Amino acid sequence: MTFDVINPATEEVVRSVPHTTLDETDAAIAKAHRAFGSWRAVAPGDRARLLRRFAELVDAHNEELARLEVENSGHTIGNARWEAGNVRDVLQYYAAAPERLFGKQIPVAGGLDVTFHEPLGVVGVIVPWNFPMPIAGWGFAPALAAGNTVVLKPAELTPLTAIRLGELAREAGIPQDVFQVLPGKGSVVGNRFVTHPLVRKVVFTGSTGVGKHVMAGCADQVKRVTLELGGKSANIVFADSDLEQAAATAPYGVFDNAGQDCCARSRILVQESVYDRFMELLEPAVKGVKVGTPGDEATEMGPLISAAHLGKVASYVPDDAPVAFRGTAPDGPGFWFPPTVLTPGYDDRTVTEEIFGPVVVVLRFTDEDDAVRIANDSEYGLSGSIWTRDVGRAIRVSRAVEAGNLSVNSHSSVRYWTPFGGVKQSGLGRELGPDALDAFTELKNVFIAT
Ligand code: NAP
Ligand code: MG
Repeated sequence: MTFDVINPATEEVVRSVPHTTLDETDAAIAKAHRAFGSWRAVAPGDRARLLRRFAELVDAHNEELARLEVENSGHTIGNARWEAGNVRDVLQYYAAAPERLFGKQIPVAGGLDVTFHEPLGVVGVIVPWNFPMPIAGWGFAPALAAGNTVVLKPAELTPLTAIRLGELAREAGIPQDVFQVLPGKGSVVGNRFVTHPLVRKVVFTGSTGVGKHVMAGCADQVKRVTLELGGKSANIVFADSDLEQAAATAPYGVFDNAGQDCCARSRILVQESVYDRFMELLEPAVKGVKVGTPGDEATEMGPLISAAHLGKVASYVPDDAPVAFRGTAPDGPGFWFPPTVLTPGYDDRTVTEEIFGPVVVVLRFTDEDDAVRIANDSEYGLSGSIWTRDVGRAIRVSRAVEAGNLSVNSHSSVRYWTPFGGVKQSGLGRELGPDALDAFTELKNVFIAT
């Protein structure tokens, strides 16, 4: 079976990609298992060198990878270049790990006690369609650095950059069976990572619904699992903030990647006393977002990923929706949806559910406690922003909001050298940063009698 990859900006078929079957998945896992023994035995300095060479090739192919992502996913060219650069950076960062996987020597009587960080074996990485390159890299780079072999399933809709990264890995000298990219269906390939006993860990990024299914499946074998799931993050704007800056940046905190971002600040909470002024400032900012051809350098927002996803997003904005104002979107072919600002009631489904499109709700709050209460009134807890000039308040609210990643007077979430992940139903475990290797190794203790 094959799958037609569609350009979401033109609706044209880009390429037809064969699906990996269940038997082929089993064969790939068996090969990855056989390759594990030799890969973990590669001298640390040599494993590091291979990963650095892989990073160099990703860097040399940045423009090619970025253009491929524009075509496959409709990402803006600026974003796509950043995404390919992020894969390079993550590889380079974890290429420093093989020689630094330090254990401890712990004082004991009658002998020597040492700890080792042992690799797990075959790691299965399951990637969603919203950030195909970075999310793949956050899994495979630390997994390979720690001495594991990797099987990776890209999303059915967006396999092209992952396939190319697999080719570049081989070109860099990483053995074929050490890192295999298996395009195909989640229900076939992804599910097999969960059920196959030789896959020792699953790294899943995607929807909370599928994530729960993956976690339940992993429980059967007490399989290690990392989950990066959905979000409904709050952008909290206090009256004492730089309101112009908060309003000017709010659209980019939610509409980046057409809102198909698990960290999207899709609930803007504004203190009552500045609500009207904030909305006056937000309107031109939203209307100013440049929506259009993703390959154009000036474009700030592209299309949604698919016709089905467009239908889902549009269902949150029926004709009688409380629309405050909207931006623009091209007519004609492509899965376009304009940036949209809603002012619904607090318990509306646009406030509680992840829309994963360019739709943001604006809600009022009275004081600091009220802001924290509304922010935490969600099953999700991935990200969020706090706008205030009061340092004490910034720290209090940062500690009180239940989320894995917060930014004050900024909307940044992701740096490859700082930890990333969610609380509550936004996920389990952390990726990136100095501690990610713990998620790809088991700590072993050895006592040697003297
Ligand atoms: P999804 O449907 O959960 O799919 C994610 C991946 O899981 C895809 O590769 C999918 O394959 C696969 N999959 C589907 N069913 C599976 C099963 N039964 N067993 C194993 N794997 C299976 O999510 P999506 O629609 O691609 O992405 C959107 C969602 O992901 C949003 O809710 C978003 O918030 C979340 N997300 C979270 C983060 C984060 O870091 N927290 C990052 C990105 C996205 P197919 O492509 O074949 O369906
Ligand atoms: Mg899906």
